[in-house]
Amino acid sequence: MTKEWNTLIEPNFAQDIGLDFAETLVPLKDIQYLAIHHTESQGMDALEAHRFHREARKWAGIGYNYFIEEDGAIIKGRGCYVGAHVYRYNRVSLGIALSGDFDSHYPTEAQMESARKLCLFFMKQCNLQSSQIIGHREFPDVSKSCPGRNFDMDGFRNWIEQTRLVNR
Ligand SMILES: [Zn+2]
Repeated sequence: MTKEWNTLIEPNFAQDIGLDFAETLVPLKDIQYLAIHHTESQGMDALEAHRFHREARKWAGIGYNYFIEEDGAIIKGRGCYVGAHVYRYNRVSLGIALSGDFDSHYPTEAQMESARKLCLFFMKQCNLQSSQIIGHREFPDVSKSCPGRNFDMDGFRNWIEQTRLVNR
């Protein structure tokens, strides 16, 4: 439950629902990638994902750093502390999960808007390029389709790149 001090700034638009972690969380020091995930199951909210990861997986708690509900609400998971979402890359990446199974349906517009907002916030803070936004399936040796076949990673990166240029 206790946490070490972290120098990264949490986005003030993420809701803290007070998730309780079973172990001390370690601050993220170096964010090189923003890793995009889906929950693989429709209707799973942040609290359910937290309970599932903590009780079934026996992790400290929710593995994702941030969680985006179907209605677009951005929920703080581990925040700027090391998560559990991409094997071997947890210490250098921030995991953003969207609720849903995007092998069978599509993310909502509100979810995509929130994902973009969150990515832009960390790109600015950590000096990242849109090429550093990576779908889980794009990491080495990953066989799953995460964040789902219907989640167009190139389209998402292009959209973010255009927004970034407009706002510069
Ligand atoms: Zn994933």
